[in-house]
Amino acid sequence: MRSRIELTGIPASRGIGLGNAYILEDNTEDVSPEKIQTNEVEGHLDRFRRSINYLREKFERLKKSESGEVAEILDAQIETLKDPELNKSIQHKIKNELYRSEYAIYSTFNEYIHVMENADSEWLNDRTIDLIAIRDQLIDIVRNRRRETEVTENSVIFASNISPTKMIELSRQNIAGVVMEKGGLTSHAVILSQSLDIPCVINVKWNRKKLLKGEEVFVDGDTGKVIIRPDERESRYYRDRKEEQERLYQESLKIIDQPSETRCGSPFHLQANVEFLEELPRIEKHGAHGVGLLRTETILFQKTGFDVEAQLKFYREVVQASGGSEVTIRLFDAGGDKLIGDSDLEANPFLGWRGIRMLLDRQDLLDNQLEAIYRLSGEFPGQIKMLVPMISCMSELNKLKKAAENIRTKLEKGSVNIDSELPIGIMIEVPSAALLAEQFAENVDFFSIGTNDLTQYTLAVDRGNERISDLFQPNHPAVWKLIQMTKVGADKHGVPVAVCGEMASKPKEAACLIGMGINSLSMTTSALPAVKAFLCDHTLDEMQLLADSVLSANSPLEAEKLLNQFV
Ligand code: PEP
Ligand code: MG
Repeated sequence: MRSRIELTGIPASRGIGLGNAYILEDNTEDVSPEKIQTNEVEGHLDRFRRSINYLREKFERLKKSESGEVAEILDAQIETLKDPELNKSIQHKIKNELYRSEYAIYSTFNEYIHVMENADSEWLNDRTIDLIAIRDQLIDIVRNRRRETEVTENSVIFASNISPTKMIELSRQNIAGVVMEKGGLTSHAVILSQSLDIPCVINVKWNRKKLLKGEEVFVDGDTGKVIIRPDERESRYYRDRKEEQERLYQESLKIIDQPSETRCGSPFHLQANVEFLEELPRIEKHGAHGVGLLRTETILFQKTGFDVEAQLKFYREVVQASGGSEVTIRLFDAGGDKLIGDSDLEANPFLGWRGIRMLLDRQDLLDNQLEAIYRLSGEFPGQIKMLVPMISCMSELNKLKKAAENIRTKLEKGSVNIDSELPIGIMIEVPSAALLAEQFAENVDFFSIGTNDLTQYTLAVDRGNERISDLFQPNHPAVWKLIQMTKVGADKHGVPVAVCGEMASKPKEAACLIGMGINSLSMTTSALPAVKAFLCDHTLDEMQLLADSVLSANSPLEAEKLLNQFV
């Protein structure tokens, strides 16, 4: 009997997947720089052109039954296929260098992939997967190998990497999980696996010779473990855990109809952080009262020329899914690890041209977004709020407000219906903004604390750098102190404060924030039921005591201990 194998990778999408192995083969191992005769050139050019057309039509077809982010991804893939430079280079290699079409495709795509892999941007590195996937599909087509995947329900897919389109195709077959050799936590395939609820583990190395199609596999998207041929005891353990997870999930949904108040009846407000249209059904399903943070920069990356109408369409869908509750739209927070097309590679991108700094330089982008938000506010008066990222000094806020006023006046002059009272708030995520909270509070309608960046900038720890990830400590006393200072400064002018960083999605930290008087929290939709259940189960007194003790902790460890002891 073949023995059990345990592999470990990076957990990328939560949940337990139980199923049978299916290996998606890499088709490029035998592509070599073989030459052709001049009389074969036309045939290879023709094969290449037909492969491009075939794939484009396939993506167009797929797109018809998709919407939102999935359709956007398909659009991006179609744009790649249309890229004139890429097409020219492949045809040149066939016509002038006399390479077979599969090698011309392979080597041209690899040049692009090489550049992206070596870019100093995790986001760009992650995009290489999409190019690899298109490359491989084109090669399959020119070789006339239409490998239709005979994936069945409950397959656990093992792949070097998976394209977004493949992930969509696979999800329709109810696969149980995905194990990838490559990929980053922000790659499209991973993002899709999360939004499609497919457990996924990445950065897993496996030996193909030791894995047979159909063998039993467990994927643990919570811990990053992958078990091939589990023993009986393990089988029972994972099946029980999966059942328990499903039971807990169903149980947790019951809390949704209960009022959002502590055990002693003090109200709190829970909202959703949203980035992709696929997340919209979960806003109401998971009991969020509106969207506390709509991240908009991702949509900016997927399109060129993201105009007012296109933005309005996207925002409208979000507002409609929020069932009459408020939606806070954050202005593009590009920069850092999220570069737009004309960004230069900077030595310190997180300290560079990011958020409001980029927006004030790119008046075209800013004006378009302001116009879209104001127009939207006229359609949904009283429901829309505007949030400004990365504010570090008062002059940035003043410039932004001036730009907003100009757009407002222009629209009013053109008799466009807008909500002239549209609230403008700022992210508190740079320590200088927290330190000057009182001054900022005089000039804005609300604060939203971004604990992810506040931690990064307070502790000088790059939030994406695995080498120093143990130093990324949101429970550091300095971070808690800045949160408290923000609240105290805001209170002086009666300005409401919310938290939309990851801290809000952890039940005990959420209780501590409520104990500090911050009773509006926005988080990823999957965290909502558990946070609500925890908050409903405790009194405000208990949470205030917790906050007092955490605020007097002398170290991150001590703060964590106090939080862990809070049951
Ligand atoms: C934050 O910094 O905490 C935040 C919510 O913004 P983002 O994670 O998008 O930078
Ligand atoms: Mg941030």
